[in-house]
Amino acid sequence: CGIVGYIGPKSVVPTIIEGLRRLEYRGYDSAGIAVAGGPNGLELRRAPGKLRNLEAVIANSPVDGTFGIGHTRWATHGRPTEENAHPHRDGSGTLVVVHNGIVENYLTLKQALIAKGHKFFSETDTEIIAHLIEDEIELASGITLKPGERTHRADIAEAVVHAPTTSAIPLEEAVRRAVKRITGAFAIGVLSAHEPNKLVAARMGPPAVIGLGDGEFFLASDVPGILHHTRNIHFLADGEVAILTTSGVTLTDFNAAPLPLKPQRILWDP
Ligand code: GLU
Repeated sequence: CGIVGYIGPKSVVPTIIEGLRRLEYRGYDSAGIAVAGGPNGLELRRAPGKLRNLEAVIANSPVDGTFGIGHTRWATHGRPTEENAHPHRDGSGTLVVVHNGIVENYLTLKQALIAKGHKFFSETDTEIIAHLIEDEIELASGITLKPGERTHRADIAEAVVHAPTTSAIPLEEAVRRAVKRITGAFAIGVLSAHEPNKLVAARMGPPAVIGLGDGEFFLASDVPGILHHTRNIHFLADGEVAILTTSGVTLTDFNAAPLPLKPQRILWDP
């Protein structure tokens, strides 16, 4: 329901939590955050209920990183539990996805992935997207695992397994190939522990905006989540993929054709 992603010099976790708080008016039943680039690699914290529950989890077990994404969830597929809260991981545990919307063909996709040995840890439609991206990385990298050969993460500490540290394609290309297999509605944010300081966003349906700051870049499901940081906003159009790095934002369509960024100056206040 609410998405906030951040790359830049500010403290990543408080920046994302504050952005999610400013999107609270959209309603939600659980919340979560993933950060990477810190001392412990990719880390995930999730909690059912209000944002303060997530903040309590983080206070007990702090996380830090150089880039991250957060989500407040309005459940459509699966109860509002910790395991169903976003971000969702792929099978290797090295890439994560936050998602607004509904993957209409998720059962068909899930069955195809289960046939390839993928194992799912949530009841959500969203988790399929993470595995689809993983599948595209494996296909491009020439990794063919028979169902019995696949290792599964039990938790993030076991995030080793088969994920290639050097994928044959960049994360954004894996995302582009994966979203073309989805029928339904999505605004997604994706990050990989193997690609430091990069966020990938894609849209088909639910809104998503990109904030262009001074040496810092934001992803959000709506303007009020980031307007206190930058008034320079590109509204992601359907069929667009944005690649956010520390040096800027580039835009393509789902077939990798470059598109121009069209930032607008937002003059209103939420
Ligand atoms: N369909 C997804 C889920 O139930 C996303 C819900 C949302 O937009 O927050 O987890």
